[in-house]
Amino acid sequence: MVPNEKTDVLVIGAGPAGSMTAKWAAKSGSRVLMLEKRQEIGSPVRCGEGMSKDWLGEVGIKPGRWINVEVEGARIYSPSEKVFEINEKHAGNEVGYVVERDEFDKQLAIDAANAGVEVRLKSAAVALLKENGRIVGARVKEFGETHEIRAPITIGADGFESQIGRWAGISTNIAMRDMDTCLQYRMTNVGCDVRYCDFYLGKVAPGGYVWVFPKGEGLANVGIGVQVSQVQNLADARTYLDRWIAAHPEYAKGKKIDMVGGGVSISAPLKQTVTDGLMLVGDAARMIDPLTGGGIANGCIAGKICGTVATEAVTAGDPSKEFLQRYEKGWRARLEEKLYRNWLAKEKLVSLSDETFDKIIEVLAGVKLEKLNVHNILKAVHTKYPEVTKEFEAFL
Ligand SMILES: Cc1cc2nc3c(=O)[nH]c(=O)nc-3n(C[C@H](O)[C@H](O)[C@H](O)COP(=O)(O)OP(=O)(O)OC[C@H]3O[C@@H](n4cnc5c(N)ncnc54)[C@H](O)[C@@H]3O)c2cc1C
Repeated sequence: MVPNEKTDVLVIGAGPAGSMTAKWAAKSGSRVLMLEKRQEIGSPVRCGEGMSKDWLGEVGIKPGRWINVEVEGARIYSPSEKVFEINEKHAGNEVGYVVERDEFDKQLAIDAANAGVEVRLKSAAVALLKENGRIVGARVKEFGETHEIRAPITIGADGFESQIGRWAGISTNIAMRDMDTCLQYRMTNVGCDVRYCDFYLGKVAPGGYVWVFPKGEGLANVGIGVQVSQVQNLADARTYLDRWIAAHPEYAKGKKIDMVGGGVSISAPLKQTVTDGLMLVGDAARMIDPLTGGGIANGCIAGKICGTVATEAVTAGDPSKEFLQRYEKGWRARLEEKLYRNWLAKEKLVSLSDETFDKIIEVLAGVKLEKLNVHNILKAVHTKYPEVTKEFEAFL
């Protein structure tokens, strides 16, 4: 029988948000235990593997062998395949990477372990421990055996399908229109351009987009996200993606070598991410960018704040939700305006016709951006096509 245990900070989930939280809690002086229900961190990969790179220094991540391709820019295609190309010359050198996501997640766990975190594999939290209305740890199933781990601070970093928030009494409900269902093939023998991440908008992917993220010459992640409220059933994502591939000879000639699926939230941020003794971070806190569906950067940025506040609470001997407002306020100050703006933008963009997308991309062609990011793209749309951005112009 596994004996019950105690620690200062218990992190549930070893994705990017969990590892980052655990690392910063350990670096700032806490004893940290991080649980992962799978036997291998980062695997299987459920990700397009695209990320920007300007945030990495802020959270202390060094470039490593997890970088697969460094792209020069992005190309955004309208339904009639007019293209808005943003390359290094137009956008400064602030574009992005296509990564090996399993290597990336493992590296973050290594960084956490090297900072003093104890990592447990095949260990799933199956319930939260509550005392006087406060979360005081979790019941954990480890290699089939159940025991308790008590901690003044518990972190839910258990991803999009998170149960921790709900178990703690935090409302994590999400509307169908605030969810995308995604499917992606790794394809070889395709005609991708390794200099660009490509995005295809419009009815080819209702409420979402098709992406092509290059993994090397002739190799790419070809995926789709569609808004759940715009399809009959989740399997429709595959129909749309297969249709798109069939219509593009440079991809139709390719061969599929693997397939991943999953959900992403495209919602406004949760109203509450802390309660007594507990904080939520990453996808579990719905921190995915509602416009791009990217969640790695936000999860890591919030993770640094979460880990630091966890140690402050342990040191102060105060795990109350009032104390944990430091995290709530901290991550909101850093991310909330952008998440909210992009949610409003998403609400607008999912309603646009193919004709309007065509007009927008047409007027954007030739626009030079200082830096490649969603804010600058939306600002450019605002300048050229203000009726599209009316509802959220205050954020621009
Ligand atoms: C198809 C697809 C493509 C995507 N493409 C991109 C992209 O290109 N770029 C980008 O930035 N984002 C992308 N995302 C989103 C991105 O993958 C997530 O935002 C990111 O993984 C969030 O990190 P996280 O640590 O919050 O959660 P996760 O990475 O999901 O990690 C959560 C971890 O918790 C573990 N866990 C769950 N429950 C328990 C439990 N009870 N006990 C113990 N462990 C538990 C899980 O096994 C998992 O390892 C994509 C998502 C999908 C589905």
